[in-house]
Amino acid sequence: MTIVRFAPSPTGRIHIGNARTAILNWLMACKTGGQFVLRYDDTDTARSTQAFAEGIATDLDWLGINPHRIEWQSKRFAHYDEVSNRLRAAGRLYPCYETADELDRRRKRQMARGAPPVYDRAALKLTDDEKRALETEGRKPHWRFKLDGRMVQWNDLIRGAQAIDTTGLSDPVLVREDGSYLYTLPSVIDDIDFAITHVIRGEDHVVNTAVQIEITQALGGNVPNYAHHSLLTGADGKGLSKRLGSLSIASMREGGLEPMAVVSHAALLGTSDNIHPCADYAELVEGFDLDKLSRAPARFDEAELSQLNAKLLHHLPWDAVKDRLPSASEEFWLAIRGNIAKLAEAADWEKVVLGPVAPVIAPEDHGFISEARGLLPASPWDGTTWKNWTEAVKAATGRKGKALFMPLRLALTGLDHGPELAQLLPLIGRERVLERLMAN
Ligand code: GLU
Repeated sequence: MTIVRFAPSPTGRIHIGNARTAILNWLMACKTGGQFVLRYDDTDTARSTQAFAEGIATDLDWLGINPHRIEWQSKRFAHYDEVSNRLRAAGRLYPCYETADELDRRRKRQMARGAPPVYDRAALKLTDDEKRALETEGRKPHWRFKLDGRMVQWNDLIRGAQAIDTTGLSDPVLVREDGSYLYTLPSVIDDIDFAITHVIRGEDHVVNTAVQIEITQALGGNVPNYAHHSLLTGADGKGLSKRLGSLSIASMREGGLEPMAVVSHAALLGTSDNIHPCADYAELVEGFDLDKLSRAPARFDEAELSQLNAKLLHHLPWDAVKDRLPSASEEFWLAIRGNIAKLAEAADWEKVVLGPVAPVIAPEDHGFISEARGLLPASPWDGTTWKNWTEAVKAATGRKGKALFMPLRLALTGLDHGPELAQLLPLIGRERVLERLMAN
Protein backbone atom coordinates (compact mmCIF):
# COMPACT_ATOMS: atom_id res chain seq x y z
CA MET A 1 0.00 0.00 0.00
CA THR A 2 1.17 3.51 -0.79
CA ILE A 3 1.74 5.55 2.35
CA VAL A 4 2.69 9.21 2.08
CA ARG A 5 3.24 11.84 4.71
CA PHE A 6 3.02 15.57 5.10
CA ALA A 7 5.38 16.77 7.79
CA PRO A 8 4.95 20.41 8.75
CA SER A 9 6.70 21.98 11.72
CA PRO A 10 4.04 23.61 13.89
CA THR A 11 6.12 26.76 14.21
CA GLY A 12 3.76 28.77 12.03
CA ARG A 13 0.74 28.39 9.76
CA ILE A 14 0.94 26.75 6.37
CA HIS A 15 1.08 28.87 3.23
CA ILE A 16 0.34 28.09 -0.36
CA GLY A 17 3.77 26.49 -0.85
CA ASN A 18 3.38 23.96 1.99
CA ALA A 19 -0.24 23.44 1.07
CA ARG A 20 0.87 22.43 -2.41
CA THR A 21 3.12 19.76 -0.88
CA ALA A 22 0.20 18.53 1.26
CA ILE A 23 -2.16 18.48 -1.73
CA LEU A 24 0.29 16.57 -3.94
CA ASN A 25 0.67 13.98 -1.19
CA TRP A 26 -3.10 13.79 -0.71
CA LEU A 27 -3.63 13.31 -4.45
CA MET A 28 -1.03 10.55 -4.43
CA ALA A 29 -2.83 8.80 -1.56
CA CYS A 30 -6.23 9.16 -3.25
CA LYS A 31 -4.93 8.04 -6.64
CA THR A 32 -3.40 4.86 -5.23
CA GLY A 33 -6.02 4.11 -2.59
CA GLY A 34 -3.23 4.63 -0.08
CA GLN A 35 -2.85 6.47 3.18
CA PHE A 36 -1.83 9.97 4.19
CA VAL A 37 0.04 10.49 7.44
CA LEU A 38 0.10 13.94 9.01
CA ARG A 39 3.30 14.15 11.00
CA TYR A 40 4.01 17.14 13.15
CA ASP A 41 7.75 17.77 13.03
CA ASP A 42 7.77 19.37 16.45
CA THR A 43 11.24 18.42 17.66
CA ASP A 44 11.88 22.11 18.17
CA THR A 45 9.86 22.25 21.36
CA ALA A 46 10.70 25.89 21.98
CA ARG A 47 9.17 27.13 18.71
CA SER A 48 6.42 24.54 18.16
CA THR A 49 3.02 25.30 19.63
CA GLN A 50 -0.25 23.48 20.06
CA ALA A 51 -2.04 26.49 18.58
CA PHE A 52 -0.04 26.29 15.34
CA ALA A 53 -0.65 22.52 15.17
CA GLU A 54 -4.39 23.08 15.56
CA GLY A 55 -4.24 25.82 12.95
CA ILE A 56 -2.55 23.46 10.51
CA ALA A 57 -5.23 20.81 11.16
CA THR A 58 -7.92 23.41 10.47
CA ASP A 59 -6.20 24.47 7.25
CA LEU A 60 -5.87 20.89 6.01
CA ASP A 61 -9.48 20.18 6.86
CA TRP A 62 -10.56 23.27 4.93
CA LEU A 63 -8.51 22.02 1.97
CA GLY A 64 -10.41 18.73 2.11
CA ILE A 65 -7.46 16.69 3.36
CA ASN A 66 -8.36 14.08 5.98
CA PRO A 67 -5.25 12.36 7.33
CA HIS A 68 -5.53 8.65 8.03
CA ARG A 69 -3.07 8.95 10.85
CA ILE A 70 -1.58 11.79 12.91
CA GLU A 71 1.80 11.57 14.61
CA TRP A 72 3.80 13.92 16.81
CA GLN A 73 7.58 13.69 16.86
CA SER A 74 7.65 15.22 20.34
CA LYS A 75 6.00 12.05 21.66
CA ARG A 76 8.72 9.81 20.28
CA PHE A 77 11.91 11.13 21.85
CA ALA A 78 12.50 7.96 23.89
CA HIS A 79 12.37 5.95 20.69
CA TYR A 80 14.74 8.33 18.90
CA ASP A 81 17.14 7.94 21.86
CA GLU A 82 17.08 4.16 21.43
CA VAL A 83 17.74 4.35 17.71
CA SER A 84 20.51 6.88 18.09
CA ASN A 85 22.16 4.62 20.65
CA ARG A 86 22.17 1.91 18.02
CA LEU A 87 23.92 4.27 15.62
CA ARG A 88 26.43 5.17 18.37
CA ALA A 89 27.13 1.50 19.03
CA ALA A 90 27.67 0.93 15.31
CA GLY A 91 30.16 3.81 15.19
CA ARG A 92 27.92 5.84 12.85
CA LEU A 93 27.12 8.57 15.36
CA TYR A 94 30.17 10.19 16.91
CA PRO A 95 30.64 12.88 19.54
CA CYS A 96 32.09 16.25 18.58
CA TYR A 97 33.07 19.04 20.95
CA GLU A 98 33.75 22.05 18.74
CA THR A 99 31.89 25.22 19.57
CA ALA A 100 30.04 27.10 16.86
CA ASP A 101 32.82 29.72 16.88
CA GLU A 102 35.53 27.13 16.45
CA LEU A 103 33.69 25.55 13.54
CA ASP A 104 33.17 28.94 11.98
CA ARG A 105 36.86 29.83 12.19
CA ARG A 106 37.76 26.44 10.73
CA ARG A 107 35.40 26.94 7.80
CA LYS A 108 36.84 30.37 7.10
CA ARG A 109 40.37 28.97 7.06
CA GLN A 110 39.27 26.23 4.64
CA MET A 111 37.63 28.73 2.35
CA ALA A 112 40.67 31.01 2.43
CA ARG A 113 42.70 28.03 1.19
CA GLY A 114 40.12 27.43 -1.54
CA ALA A 115 38.99 24.18 0.10
CA PRO A 116 35.29 23.32 0.50
CA PRO A 117 34.03 24.13 4.02
CA VAL A 118 33.38 20.51 4.90
CA TYR A 119 33.70 19.28 8.49
CA ASP A 120 37.18 17.73 8.77
CA ARG A 121 36.16 14.95 11.19
CA ALA A 122 38.76 16.11 13.71
CA ALA A 123 36.56 14.70 16.49
CA LEU A 124 36.96 11.18 15.10
CA LYS A 125 40.63 11.34 16.00
CA LEU A 126 40.05 12.23 19.66
CA THR A 127 41.24 9.61 22.14
CA ASP A 128 39.08 8.63 25.09
CA ASP A 129 41.34 10.65 27.36
CA GLU A 130 40.99 13.74 25.21
CA LYS A 131 37.22 13.37 25.21
CA ARG A 132 37.21 13.01 28.98
CA ALA A 133 39.39 16.10 29.31
CA LEU A 134 37.00 18.12 27.12
CA GLU A 135 34.04 16.95 29.16
CA THR A 136 35.80 17.87 32.39
CA GLU A 137 36.21 21.33 30.88
CA GLY A 138 32.41 21.39 30.84
CA ARG A 139 31.93 20.70 27.16
CA LYS A 140 29.05 18.53 26.08
CA PRO A 141 29.18 16.66 22.79
CA HIS A 142 26.92 17.14 19.81
CA TRP A 143 26.64 14.09 17.60
CA ARG A 144 27.43 13.75 13.92
CA PHE A 145 26.45 10.99 11.55
CA LYS A 146 29.45 9.48 9.79
CA LEU A 147 28.62 9.58 6.12
CA ASP A 148 29.81 6.74 3.91
CA GLY A 149 31.15 9.27 1.45
CA ARG A 150 29.86 7.75 -1.75
CA MET A 151 27.61 8.47 -4.67
CA VAL A 152 24.06 8.20 -3.37
CA GLN A 153 21.68 7.62 -6.24
CA TRP A 154 17.94 7.48 -6.56
CA ASN A 155 15.38 7.73 -9.25
CA ASP A 156 13.44 10.83 -8.30
CA LEU A 157 9.84 10.54 -9.43
CA ILE A 158 9.88 14.17 -10.55
CA ARG A 159 13.53 15.04 -11.18
CA GLY A 160 14.64 11.76 -12.70
CA ALA A 161 18.00 10.08 -11.95
CA GLN A 162 19.79 11.83 -9.08
CA ALA A 163 23.32 11.30 -7.85
CA ILE A 164 24.85 13.16 -4.91
CA ASP A 165 28.38 12.53 -3.78
CA THR A 166 28.31 12.66 0.00
CA THR A 167 32.10 13.04 0.20
CA GLY A 168 31.39 16.69 -0.56
CA LEU A 169 29.12 17.03 2.50
CA SER A 170 29.88 17.61 6.15
CA ASP A 171 28.85 14.78 8.44
CA PRO A 172 25.47 16.09 9.58
CA VAL A 173 24.80 16.91 13.22
CA LEU A 174 21.86 14.75 14.28
CA VAL A 175 21.81 15.42 18.03
CA ARG A 176 22.58 18.73 19.71
CA GLU A 177 24.60 19.31 22.89
CA ASP A 178 21.44 19.31 24.99
CA GLY A 179 20.34 15.95 23.56
CA SER A 180 17.66 17.48 21.35
CA TYR A 181 17.22 16.29 17.78
CA LEU A 182 17.60 18.17 14.56
CA TYR A 183 15.01 17.32 11.93
CA THR A 184 17.14 14.84 9.95
CA LEU A 185 17.15 11.71 12.09
CA PRO A 186 13.59 11.71 13.50
CA SER A 187 12.31 12.13 9.98
CA VAL A 188 14.17 9.03 8.80
CA ILE A 189 13.12 6.99 11.84
CA ASP A 190 9.48 7.94 11.31
CA ASP A 191 9.57 7.29 7.58
CA ILE A 192 10.84 3.79 8.37
CA ASP A 193 8.48 3.11 11.30
CA PHE A 194 5.37 4.37 9.52
CA ALA A 195 6.31 2.41 6.39
CA ILE A 196 6.30 5.52 4.22
CA THR A 197 6.54 4.45 0.59
CA HIS A 198 6.72 7.88 -1.08
CA VAL A 199 8.29 11.05 0.22
CA ILE A 200 6.92 13.94 -1.83
CA ARG A 201 8.44 17.24 -0.75
CA GLY A 202 10.08 20.41 -1.97
CA GLU A 203 13.37 20.39 -3.84
CA ASP A 204 14.99 22.31 -0.99
CA HIS A 205 15.35 18.82 0.55
CA VAL A 206 17.27 17.18 -2.30
CA VAL A 207 20.62 17.23 -0.50
CA ASN A 208 18.95 16.04 2.72
CA THR A 209 17.71 13.09 0.76
CA ALA A 210 21.22 11.84 0.04
CA VAL A 211 22.01 12.04 3.75
CA GLN A 212 18.69 10.53 4.75
CA ILE A 213 19.13 7.61 2.35
CA GLU A 214 22.49 6.86 3.98
CA ILE A 215 20.92 7.00 7.44
CA THR A 216 17.99 4.82 6.34
CA GLN A 217 20.43 2.22 5.08
CA ALA A 218 22.54 2.44 8.23
CA LEU A 219 19.36 1.62 10.16
CA GLY A 220 18.50 -1.27 7.86
CA GLY A 221 15.29 0.45 6.71
CA ASN A 222 13.64 0.43 3.30
CA VAL A 223 14.49 3.49 1.27
CA PRO A 224 11.23 5.13 0.19
CA ASN A 225 10.60 6.57 -3.26
CA TYR A 226 11.41 10.25 -3.41
CA ALA A 227 9.78 12.96 -5.46
CA HIS A 228 11.03 16.53 -5.07
CA HIS A 229 8.81 19.16 -6.57
CA SER A 230 10.06 22.59 -7.57
CA LEU A 231 9.29 25.52 -5.30
CA LEU A 232 6.80 28.29 -5.90
CA THR A 233 7.92 31.77 -6.73
CA GLY A 234 5.87 34.95 -6.68
CA ALA A 235 4.58 36.53 -9.88
CA ASP A 236 7.85 38.51 -9.89
CA GLY A 237 9.83 35.26 -10.10
CA LYS A 238 11.28 35.72 -6.59
CA GLY A 239 10.82 33.37 -3.64
CA LEU A 240 7.58 33.56 -1.70
CA SER A 241 9.16 33.79 1.73
CA LYS A 242 8.75 37.54 2.26
CA ARG A 243 5.00 37.60 1.85
CA LEU A 244 4.12 34.37 3.56
CA GLY A 245 1.56 35.96 5.88
CA SER A 246 -0.69 37.04 3.05
CA LEU A 247 -0.20 33.70 1.34
CA SER A 248 -1.23 31.64 4.33
CA ILE A 249 -4.12 29.26 3.87
CA ALA A 250 -5.78 30.92 6.88
CA SER A 251 -5.72 34.32 5.17
CA MET A 252 -7.12 32.81 1.96
CA ARG A 253 -9.96 31.25 3.92
CA GLU A 254 -10.62 34.49 5.80
CA GLY A 255 -10.42 36.38 2.51
CA GLY A 256 -13.37 34.34 1.26
CA LEU A 257 -11.70 32.13 -1.32
CA GLU A 258 -13.18 28.73 -2.11
CA PRO A 259 -11.04 25.84 -0.89
CA MET A 260 -11.34 24.03 -4.21
CA ALA A 261 -10.04 27.11 -6.04
CA VAL A 262 -6.95 27.03 -3.83
CA VAL A 263 -6.67 23.25 -4.23
CA SER A 264 -7.11 23.33 -8.02
CA HIS A 265 -4.57 26.10 -8.35
CA ALA A 266 -2.00 24.44 -6.09
CA ALA A 267 -2.50 21.02 -7.68
CA LEU A 268 -2.21 22.15 -11.29
CA LEU A 269 0.41 24.86 -10.92
CA GLY A 270 3.69 23.80 -12.51
CA THR A 271 2.12 20.81 -14.27
CA SER A 272 1.55 20.17 -17.94
CA ASP A 273 -2.22 20.48 -17.37
CA ASN A 274 -4.04 23.77 -17.82
CA ILE A 275 -4.99 25.44 -14.58
CA HIS A 276 -8.74 25.18 -14.39
CA PRO A 277 -11.22 25.04 -11.54
CA CYS A 278 -12.25 21.60 -10.27
CA ALA A 279 -15.33 21.53 -8.08
CA ASP A 280 -14.10 18.50 -6.14
CA TYR A 281 -11.09 16.23 -5.86
CA ALA A 282 -12.36 13.53 -8.25
CA GLU A 283 -11.13 15.20 -11.44
CA LEU A 284 -7.79 16.18 -9.89
CA VAL A 285 -7.23 12.64 -8.64
CA GLU A 286 -8.11 11.24 -12.05
CA GLY A 287 -5.58 13.47 -13.80
CA PHE A 288 -2.87 13.26 -11.13
CA ASP A 289 0.51 12.02 -12.26
CA LEU A 290 3.88 13.07 -10.80
CA ASP A 291 5.24 12.88 -14.36
CA LYS A 292 3.23 15.98 -15.20
CA LEU A 293 5.15 18.13 -12.70
CA SER A 294 7.74 20.38 -14.23
CA ARG A 295 11.19 20.79 -12.73
CA ALA A 296 11.07 24.53 -13.34
CA PRO A 297 9.93 26.80 -10.50
CA ALA A 298 6.17 27.42 -10.64
CA ARG A 299 4.90 30.99 -10.45
CA PHE A 300 2.15 31.69 -8.01
CA ASP A 301 0.09 34.75 -8.80
CA GLU A 302 -2.63 35.80 -6.36
CA ALA A 303 -4.51 37.53 -9.17
CA GLU A 304 -4.71 34.25 -11.08
CA LEU A 305 -6.02 32.52 -7.99
CA SER A 306 -8.76 35.15 -7.64
CA GLN A 307 -9.75 34.64 -11.26
CA LEU A 308 -9.82 30.89 -10.76
CA ASN A 309 -12.03 31.39 -7.72
CA ALA A 310 -14.51 33.38 -9.81
CA LYS A 311 -14.47 30.77 -12.59
CA LEU A 312 -15.11 28.03 -10.07
CA LEU A 313 -18.11 29.86 -8.62
CA HIS A 314 -19.53 30.57 -12.08
CA HIS A 315 -20.18 26.88 -12.60
CA LEU A 316 -20.71 25.66 -9.07
CA PRO A 317 -23.99 23.77 -8.64
CA TRP A 318 -26.50 24.83 -6.01
CA ASP A 319 -25.82 21.73 -3.93
CA ALA A 320 -22.23 22.81 -3.43
CA VAL A 321 -23.19 26.15 -1.86
CA LYS A 322 -26.67 25.82 -0.40
CA ASP A 323 -25.47 25.21 3.14
CA ARG A 324 -23.55 28.44 3.02
CA LEU A 325 -26.44 30.46 1.56
CA PRO A 326 -29.27 29.45 3.89
CA SER A 327 -31.62 32.27 2.91
CA ALA A 328 -31.16 31.83 -0.85
CA SER A 329 -32.85 29.61 -3.45
CA GLU A 330 -31.50 27.59 -6.33
CA GLU A 331 -33.05 30.03 -8.86
CA PHE A 332 -31.29 32.89 -7.12
CA TRP A 333 -27.95 31.05 -7.17
CA LEU A 334 -28.23 30.17 -10.85
CA ALA A 335 -29.08 33.79 -11.61
CA ILE A 336 -26.18 35.38 -9.76
CA ARG A 337 -23.31 32.87 -9.74
CA GLY A 338 -21.89 34.23 -12.99
CA ASN A 339 -21.58 37.68 -11.43
CA ILE A 340 -19.55 36.99 -8.34
CA ALA A 341 -15.85 36.58 -7.71
CA LYS A 342 -16.31 35.49 -4.08
CA LEU A 343 -19.22 33.74 -2.46
CA ALA A 344 -19.72 36.59 0.02
CA GLU A 345 -20.79 38.78 -2.89
CA ALA A 346 -23.96 36.70 -3.15
CA ALA A 347 -25.24 38.80 -0.24
CA ASP A 348 -24.92 41.95 -2.38
CA TRP A 349 -27.15 40.41 -5.04
CA GLU A 350 -29.56 39.17 -2.41
CA LYS A 351 -29.93 42.78 -1.41
CA VAL A 352 -30.54 43.77 -5.01
CA VAL A 353 -33.34 41.20 -5.17
CA LEU A 354 -34.94 41.85 -1.78
CA GLY A 355 -34.12 45.51 -1.51
CA PRO A 356 -33.93 48.12 -0.48
CA VAL A 357 -32.35 49.41 -3.68
CA ALA A 358 -32.07 53.00 -4.77
CA PRO A 359 -33.51 52.95 -8.29
CA VAL A 360 -31.67 55.15 -10.76
CA ILE A 361 -33.98 56.86 -13.25
CA ALA A 362 -32.56 59.63 -15.42
CA PRO A 363 -34.92 62.60 -15.89
CA GLU A 364 -35.22 61.89 -19.63
CA ASP A 365 -36.29 58.30 -18.89
CA HIS A 366 -39.19 59.06 -16.57
CA GLY A 367 -41.79 58.81 -19.29
CA PHE A 368 -40.28 55.65 -20.67
CA ILE A 369 -40.16 54.00 -17.24
CA SER A 370 -43.74 54.82 -16.38
CA GLU A 371 -44.86 53.49 -19.77
CA ALA A 372 -42.92 50.29 -19.10
CA ARG A 373 -44.55 50.09 -15.67
CA GLY A 374 -47.97 50.17 -17.25
CA LEU A 375 -47.03 47.24 -19.49
CA LEU A 376 -45.86 44.94 -16.68
CA PRO A 377 -47.33 41.46 -17.17
CA ALA A 378 -49.64 40.03 -14.53
CA SER A 379 -48.41 37.42 -12.07
CA PRO A 380 -47.36 34.64 -11.93
CA TRP A 381 -43.92 35.40 -13.35
CA ASP A 382 -41.39 32.98 -14.77
CA GLY A 383 -38.30 32.90 -16.96
CA THR A 384 -40.25 34.21 -20.00
CA THR A 385 -41.71 37.29 -18.29
CA TRP A 386 -38.76 39.58 -19.01
CA LYS A 387 -38.82 38.75 -22.73
CA ASN A 388 -42.57 39.23 -23.02
CA TRP A 389 -42.47 42.47 -21.11
CA THR A 390 -39.53 44.05 -22.96
CA GLU A 391 -41.01 43.07 -26.32
CA ALA A 392 -44.20 44.86 -25.38
CA VAL A 393 -42.20 47.89 -24.14
CA LYS A 394 -40.16 47.91 -27.36
CA ALA A 395 -43.32 47.82 -29.51
CA ALA A 396 -44.92 50.61 -27.50
CA THR A 397 -41.92 52.95 -27.17
CA GLY A 398 -39.87 52.17 -30.25
CA ARG A 399 -36.76 51.84 -28.04
CA LYS A 400 -34.39 48.95 -28.56
CA GLY A 401 -30.99 47.63 -27.48
CA LYS A 402 -29.19 49.53 -24.77
CA ALA A 403 -31.70 52.42 -24.78
CA LEU A 404 -34.40 49.91 -23.93
CA PHE A 405 -32.58 47.68 -21.44
CA MET A 406 -30.25 50.00 -19.52
CA PRO A 407 -32.88 52.35 -18.07
CA LEU A 408 -34.86 49.29 -16.93
CA ARG A 409 -31.79 47.74 -15.32
CA LEU A 410 -30.89 51.00 -13.59
CA ALA A 411 -34.40 51.44 -12.29
CA LEU A 412 -34.77 47.84 -11.12
CA THR A 413 -31.37 47.30 -9.56
CA GLY A 414 -29.78 50.72 -9.16
CA LEU A 415 -26.77 49.31 -11.03
CA ASP A 416 -25.57 49.37 -14.62
CA HIS A 417 -24.37 45.77 -14.53
CA GLY A 418 -25.43 42.48 -13.05
CA PRO A 419 -27.08 39.14 -13.67
CA GLU A 420 -29.50 38.47 -16.53
CA LEU A 421 -32.66 40.38 -15.82
CA ALA A 422 -34.69 37.52 -17.28
CA GLN A 423 -33.57 35.49 -14.26
CA LEU A 424 -33.63 38.33 -11.73
CA LEU A 425 -37.07 39.67 -12.58
CA PRO A 426 -39.14 36.77 -11.20
CA LEU A 427 -36.95 36.77 -8.09
CA ILE A 428 -37.53 40.47 -7.46
CA GLY A 429 -41.23 39.86 -8.02
CA ARG A 430 -44.02 42.08 -9.31
CA GLU A 431 -44.63 44.04 -6.13
CA ARG A 432 -41.04 45.23 -5.71
CA VAL A 433 -40.70 45.88 -9.43
CA LEU A 434 -43.78 48.12 -9.38
CA GLU A 435 -42.36 50.00 -6.43
CA ARG A 436 -38.95 50.49 -8.03
CA LEU A 437 -40.42 51.69 -11.32
CA MET A 438 -42.34 54.33 -9.45
CA ALA A 439 -39.36 55.91 -7.76
CA ASN A 440 -38.59 59.44 -8.86
N1 GLU B 1 9.42 19.49 8.60
C1 GLU B 1 10.09 19.44 7.34
C2 GLU B 1 9.78 20.70 6.56
O1 GLU B 1 8.73 21.29 6.77
C3 GLU B 1 9.65 18.22 6.59
C4 GLU B 1 10.39 17.92 5.36
C5 GLU B 1 10.08 16.55 4.88
O2 GLU B 1 9.04 16.41 4.23
O3 GLU B 1 10.81 15.63 5.18
O4 GLU B 1 10.57 21.14 5.76
